[in-house]
Amino acid sequence: MIDRHVDVKCGWCAKTATLGEWNDLTYSRCTNREMKRAFINLTAEKAFMRKSDTFYECPNCHKWSRGSQLSIVNTNDARLLRLGGEPTMGNYVNT
Ligand SMILES: [Zn+2]
Repeated sequence: MIDRHVDVKCGWCAKTATLGEWNDLTYSRCTNREMKRAFINLTAEKAFMRKSDTFYECPNCHKWSRGSQLSIVNTNDARLLRLGGEPTMGNYVNT
């Protein structure tokens, strides 16, 4: 489990919000039972993996990013720093 108080950085606006803020805002967008069931909490490391194909809404700029594009910042925990971090713009430049 990842702590809800770590800072998560948006690839679009480069601002940070706590993992809990990202998580709760995105969960609030799940409008039906199927979406709620499919929702993967950001506290799970797999939320940051490409294959999970999860999307989260930025509490600052309200754009959506893949979990794999988010990065955890302001921590010395190497395990957390390894998660996510795919470039946001790289999506369509390289395809
Ligand atoms: Zn943002």
